[in-house]
Amino acid sequence: MLEDGATPAGTGESPTAQSPNSKSRYSKHIILTTYPGQSGIDPVPLEWGAPDAKSRGPVIVSRSGPLLKRRNAMGAHGGSYSIYNALAIAAGHLDPNFRPDFRNSQPTFKFPWQPAWADKTKIVSMDPYGHDIVNQFREELEAGWDIRPTMAVTRANMKLAEIGEAVRDGELKVDGNIVVDSSGEVRVTKVAVEPVWYLPGVAERFGMDEGTLRRSLFEHTGGSYPELITRPDLKVFLPPIGGLTVYIFGPPERVSDEKVKLALRIHDECNGSDVFQSDICTCRPYLAFGIREAIREAQNGGSGVVIYFRKEGRALGEVIKYLVYNARKRGGDTADKYFRRTENIAGVRDMRFQALMPDILHWLGIKKIDRMLSMSNMKYDAIVNSGIPILERIPIPDHMLPSDSRVEIDAKINAGYFTTGKQYTMEELSAVRGRGWEKWEDVSGLFAVYGVESGF
Ligand SMILES: [Zn+2]
Repeated sequence: MLEDGATPAGTGESPTAQSPNSKSRYSKHIILTTYPGQSGIDPVPLEWGAPDAKSRGPVIVSRSGPLLKRRNAMGAHGGSYSIYNALAIAAGHLDPNFRPDFRNSQPTFKFPWQPAWADKTKIVSMDPYGHDIVNQFREELEAGWDIRPTMAVTRANMKLAEIGEAVRDGELKVDGNIVVDSSGEVRVTKVAVEPVWYLPGVAERFGMDEGTLRRSLFEHTGGSYPELITRPDLKVFLPPIGGLTVYIFGPPERVSDEKVKLALRIHDECNGSDVFQSDICTCRPYLAFGIREAIREAQNGGSGVVIYFRKEGRALGEVIKYLVYNARKRGGDTADKYFRRTENIAGVRDMRFQALMPDILHWLGIKKIDRMLSMSNMKYDAIVNSGIPILERIPIPDHMLPSDSRVEIDAKINAGYFTTGKQYTMEELSAVRGRGWEKWEDVSGLFAVYGVESGF
């Protein structure tokens, strides 16, 4: 059980630099970091890959009171929202010792245990028991331990314009269960997942050593997590990044049923297209196509799954993305230069690194994918190399491509994206040109300033 005493002594402490007027809800010493041999440091055992939740142990990141010494993981809950949590505490809106009341929050569907949950090579970027914390660690929660779910399972109705159109056009039927009515309202089971990284496993996926991974995470987050360096005994890190959401159409128990067909789309966030329907890329149309086909498969007695990853703009973010858009539009937007524009500004063409993506498929118990609604060779390779065969790959139909998206899709096809259609040469790509900004009054002078080729 937990011991009392919230102010561990020893190395790693530093006097605070508080102004005399500032009211603090913290003790007068900041604990900058901890060390494995430090007095009182006694992490709750956490054995990644153990056969069940109880023998695996709970993931504890809280620095609250005595838990500071008993934590077995680094980082904070909430992914990128952990910063808002800190802000809420600083602003006095949230008690730092708040404990949630989880009554009635349990999953709407009990996902069956899968062998991958106990395989420390198959799942390294999420807690396979993250949805079942309240059930598995009830006693610890009642004793006041701060243990939080990192996954949640719910159900909902959703309505997408494209699905409504598909129902009107007779491409999807109303079955009263999956597609509820003629307006295209659809029932869905959703699973939200926050990232929980088992660092040795993450390092192995990328073929790097754990020390390099830890050092890089420490250095390039402004030194935010010093225990990445000082606590090699802590193997689990909750990174401040976005997670993913699984959308399941049809009965969720069918997802892991090998006997029925599975249609799957892995979709990486593109807010400008997904939500606001920008016409510069294929994201929203492919997402809508993926949802339509997932629903269709479920209606045919199979299962349909769409997994939405928070990796905006190839995990480069919208600022980089818009800088690249500008460079494209001002530099003559042709498909042969598409990737170079991104590399010029971001240094790489893509930071999504699909190596961790298949974890969720293994968690769901997916053993094969009958219809993969994606053209990405990176996603395909990651899934197949993780041991899940893909039987058929389905490109987005040409008639669904938005007007200004040819530059992107043709460049991707040239770079190895799957297609059943034409694969363009670099020479042909130089003739695939996106819409310029000619009709925007403010840009008439810009081409003169930057020059058409402008060095991008
Ligand atoms: Zn997009």
